[in-house]
Amino acid sequence: MYLDIKNLSFKYDQINIIDSFNMSAPKGSITTIIGESGSGKSTLLRILAGLNNSQTGIFTLDNQIVFNEYKNVETHKRKIGLVFQDYTLFPHLNIEQNIAFGIHSKHKKKERIQSILKMVELENDAHKYPYECSGGMQQRVALARAIANQPKLLLLDEPFSNLDQDLKIRLRDQFISWAKQEEITLIWVTHDMEEAYAISNQVIELIKKI
Ligand code: ADP
Ligand code: MG
Repeated sequence: MYLDIKNLSFKYDQINIIDSFNMSAPKGSITTIIGESGSGKSTLLRILAGLNNSQTGIFTLDNQIVFNEYKNVETHKRKIGLVFQDYTLFPHLNIEQNIAFGIHSKHKKKERIQSILKMVELENDAHKYPYECSGGMQQRVALARAIANQPKLLLLDEPFSNLDQDLKIRLRDQFISWAKQEEITLIWVTHDMEEAYAISNQVIELIKKI
């Protein structure tokens, strides 16, 4: 499968936070992770992104080992993106520059930025700075930046929980259609069961250990 995680375990102060977690997912699919607060959802994403080490288990992505018993690819080489609910844009860069920041390849960079701005309907706001944008718009830029990076896997940790319900659903559905266009594989953390079943190809529940 495009993504495979086998027997992933992680301890915090001798306590099992993640215990033999398994999942597989095809390219371009959406997996949601649900579970009550403290069940290890954020910890799982941090491990996959490479921000928490000392896990055991095997993680492969796009036919490459990300980590196993012998190997642990560095965070910045994983091509895995992570978007938090309290997203951060660079305050001194405008929208276009914030999006451009994620694009490492120089090849057709200008065209790529324009097509992303168009897709997320921000062409007319490209020169605004974050302080000139509403919360919803800032989150849209954060998501656009994450997509522009073309990650092999994009991890979203309750990405819309700061937004009101209408905006949340609108932005969520738009975002999913952008991710599909770009064939980006998503792991989406939420504690909202209804959201989980509305958007995903598979739902995995984490159970709180303590
Ligand atoms: P969730 O995102 O599902 O709410 P977390 O992954 O944040 O859960 O936390 C899972 C468990 O790991 C909790 O019991 C939490 O207390 C513990 N934990 C995670 N990170 C830390 C940390 N840096 N310090 C202390 N405990 C932590
Ligand atoms: Mg969390």
